[in-house]
This record gives sequence, structure tokens and C-alpha cells, in this order.
Amino acid sequence: MSNITTEQMRFWSPEVRELEPYVPGEQPKIQNLLKLNTNENPYPPSSKVVEAVQQVLENSADALRLYPDPDASELKQAIAKQQHVAVENVFVGNGSDEVLAHIFKAFFVQELPILYPDITYSFYPVYSQFFGVKTKVLPLNDDFEIVVADYKQANGGIIITNPNAPTSIALGLSAIEEVLQANPNSVVVIDEAYVDFGAESAVKLVEKYDNLVVCQTTSKSRSLAGLRVGFAIAQPHLIAALAAVKNSFNSYPMDRFAIAAAVASFEDQAYFEAQCHKVIASRETLVADLTVLGFKILPSSANFIFASHPEHDAGELAAALRERGIIVRYFNKPRINQYLRITIGTDQQNQRLVDTLKQDILA
Ligand SMILES: *Cc1c(COP(=O)(O)O)cnc(C)c1O
Repeated sequence: MSNITTEQMRFWSPEVRELEPYVPGEQPKIQNLLKLNTNENPYPPSSKVVEAVQQVLENSADALRLYPDPDASELKQAIAKQQHVAVENVFVGNGSDEVLAHIFKAFFVQELPILYPDITYSFYPVYSQFFGVKTKVLPLNDDFEIVVADYKQANGGIIITNPNAPTSIALGLSAIEEVLQANPNSVVVIDEAYVDFGAESAVKLVEKYDNLVVCQTTSKSRSLAGLRVGFAIAQPHLIAALAAVKNSFNSYPMDRFAIAAAVASFEDQAYFEAQCHKVIASRETLVADLTVLGFKILPSSANFIFASHPEHDAGELAAALRERGIIVRYFNKPRINQYLRITIGTDQQNQRLVDTLKQDILA
């Protein structure tokens, strides 16, 4: 926005002039790049996913000409089956970022502020500003854990990432139930973008709590970040609000390729579980190797780790890695500016990171 003049900005809606948009992790085009900065999966999706995409064009000459199913019913059914809920409990959107946007609009535009931790997914403040949602930010404790007692005050809604990002720390279901029970008149959203890598999902609580919305994505654990498919699970009266927002915004968010590919992914559960196990095993190896090099690493239940080194500045480490073709995420923000968020790669990729640090940077 920097080279737009104030005079040119007179065409903009006044509130858009004030926006501070989210800055996505970069997708640079460097040769021999090792990209450990945006928590993508290092493995491809199931081969059945690729076949399903190809079949969309082969099976129907009208695949591109006709609008897709506005309700993406087939996809909702596949998700319902895999999550052991009813189709009425499922909402789908163009990535969980879009699902979250609809969640903010549907539930959080209230008199009272919503509550979320000081260190969490940085899209929440962006959506709050965009939709005019009031916020009250609650600090994590010194170990970067959520203080459940803080979530027992008057509020207009609550959103918690579990496992949290970028800290990677998981919150137990009993703590989540405590928050749900303390807030019977607020919607509590659990953003489970990383849940498949080692946390317990709150989907099993949906039947019991009429104020719970669980949000998940196919971007990380299902290797489908390029597809843009996310979903929410909740009781039907909450799903109805999301549908009302969605149908006031975009009736056809899911295209035919996204629907077909995501359905194939949910149907190949064995492949999905095997990939998750591989990432978890590689994470444990990487944690052990970096610990030997002196890094302090928070306990991770995600496909990334949050690491600091007592003797090296995190910003300088990130810059040194970048010079050697390895990109990790560095947040120059209070409390976390001595940490690196490192996505788990394949064992071979992680080894390149460890070797580069050991031989070239820390030595
Ligand atoms: C990656 C991520 C998302 C967004 O996922 P998409 O489905 O790719 O939009 C949402 N929440 C958190 C915490 C994430 O890390």
C-alpha cells in the first residue's frame, strides 16, 4: 500500500483505508529452497486425490461449464462420515481461513469483546478489525500456556487454537470443557488446524455443547493447502448461522475440483494416518537433534516446532538460514522475537537444517 497516495485513496471506502491485512508466509522462488515456513505437509496427498481431480474433467464435458453444487453435499457427507457426526453438523468453506471469517461475522459481532490469547493465529486480530469485533487479548503464562481461569469473564465469544500456533502447545479436552461450561451464552471456537499431529479433537464434545464450534482444515495434515478446503463442526443451530453468512457472501465457494479431491482424501483414511505418523516421528527426531545443538523447544503437538537458542539471536539465525536457502518463520513481535517457528519436513530435509546449523551457523 506504501506507494498509494492519500489523494488516490479518496476512492477507497473509509474503513478499508484503516485495514491492517494479514501477511501470509512467503512463497519465494529460489533454487534448492528448503521451505519450512508455512507449515505445509512435506508429503504429497494420496494418489487417489490426484486421480479424483483428473476424473472431474474425464467424467463430464460439463464440469467447467456448469456451476458446482452450492452445498457441496458430497464433501459434507465424506467429512461427516470421517468425523463421526451427522451431515447437519458440517459446514465447508474455501480454506479454514474463510470458515473462520464466516465464524467471526456469524457469532462475534457483539456488545462484549471476544477473548483470545496474546500469542495465537495472527488472523484473529485481522478479522476482528475487518468485521468490527471488539477484542480482549489475554496473555499466555510464562510457559506459553493458556490460563483457563482467565476465560471465565464476561465476553462476546472465545477463540482458541488447539494446538496453539505458533507455540505448538496443545490444550487438554478437560480444560476446553471447563471453558465451554463457564460460558454457556458465548460461542467457543476451537481452531484445530494442527490437531491431527497429536492433540485430542473437541469434535467429540459437539453433541454435548450447544455453544461449541470446531474448525479444521485439509491444508496441513491432508497435504491440500493448494486446494483451499476447510470445515467447521457444530450443532445445527450454529451451522445455520454460518450458512446464512456464506449465502450472503458467496454461494459457490467450493469448486468441483476441490470437492472431488477433498472427498477422495477423506475416503483414504489409511494414507492420511500413515502420513501423520511419519511427520510426528520426524518431529521427534528433529527435536532431539536440535536439542543436542542447544535449542530449547516447546512441547509440540503440531507439524512445526517453536525453538529458541540461548546463545543466538533468533532473527539472526533466521537470516543466516535464509542465506543458505532454508526459510523458517520468524515473528518480530513482543515475547516471541527469540523464537523460530520451524515446519517439520521429511527426515532428509530436517537433516539439511540440522547440518547447516551445526556446520555452518552455530560453529
Ligand atoms: C493454517 C491455519 C489456518 C488456515 O488454514 P487454511 O485452511 O489453509 O485456510 C487456520 N488456522 C490456523 C491456526 C492455521 O495455522
